[in-house]
Amino acid sequence: MTEKSYGGAAPFRKQGKNLKNMEHKSLVNDKNLKTEREMAENDGELDKARVLRAGKIASQLREFVKQIVRPGVPLLEIAEKIESKTAELGGRPAFPVNLSINDVAAHYTPSHDDKTLAHGLLKVDFGVHVDGWIADTAMSFDLENSGENRKLIEAAEKALENAIKIVKSGARLRDIGREIQKTIEAHGAYPIINLSGHSVSHLDLHAGTTIPNYDNESSEIFDEGVYAIEPFATPGNGRVYDGKPSGIYELVSGRNVRSPIARRILDFITEEYYTLPFCSRWIVEKFGQSALFGLKQLEDNGNLHQFEQLIEVSHRNVAQAEHTIIIEKNKVEVTTR
Ligand code: MN
Ligand code: MN
Repeated sequence: MTEKSYGGAAPFRKQGKNLKNMEHKSLVNDKNLKTEREMAENDGELDKARVLRAGKIASQLREFVKQIVRPGVPLLEIAEKIESKTAELGGRPAFPVNLSINDVAAHYTPSHDDKTLAHGLLKVDFGVHVDGWIADTAMSFDLENSGENRKLIEAAEKALENAIKIVKSGARLRDIGREIQKTIEAHGAYPIINLSGHSVSHLDLHAGTTIPNYDNESSEIFDEGVYAIEPFATPGNGRVYDGKPSGIYELVSGRNVRSPIARRILDFITEEYYTLPFCSRWIVEKFGQSALFGLKQLEDNGNLHQFEQLIEVSHRNVAQAEHTIIIEKNKVEVTTR
């Protein structure tokens, strides 16, 4: 997923006390791991082995995705296959599989009764976590044999590759952004400037640092840590706006809610997903369709933030590429390749 998603919803550490005392027993399988509260008190400590394991699973999933994505396959089937394969490989989805088509740049995930078939320029953006340590990666497919689509995909992939070549500890974020912009423009397209890469930390998909897809003239530099780099290329205007609600949510507050069904859903979300994004499809799978009303109550009550679909303003097609990297003092590793 992309940084813009998190405009409205600060992760719990910044959000304050509301979530701090909530349990999330089943999210982290390894009971010997530190609790999230302990992690927060010991900022910056990275479980590299788990970050690499999540990346390895994501990398295997990339191969799987290439086998199952074909024109005419229902998006619902693609999402469910990727999510169940994630579990089979020993990971868990870090967020719902995003399957965004054409001018939808990001944040489309199939609903429980979705009938959409794969077509056009399809972005497959998915995440894996192992005990809360995250890999985030994306790839794009031209499903209509379009030269323009292929050019956009090549632009996004080449931009990502070039960014990875020059990124390192101490590099300026703006220089990575400039490299992305330069590469995409050399392909006759534009980067989407209000979508960006992001830092990643434990149970936190968007940990605070934003990696621009253009030269934003900031003096900020890369510290050691985990980052997702994700260029988007379009022949259009190069911006997105907030479209329809996506059915993708995240927990923002544990505040009390009266309705029993809403309460049950809230407890489930807290245990299963904690601060990671989830979707209505997963809730319907667990509780049945009546749960949709409970989700609405939780949203109205301020417990949940729902993301919007992100649409390219001139309604031109968008391609995306994304990998997760670990930056250490003298070393950069791509975890999801
Ligand atoms: Mn991302
Ligand atoms: Mn992503």
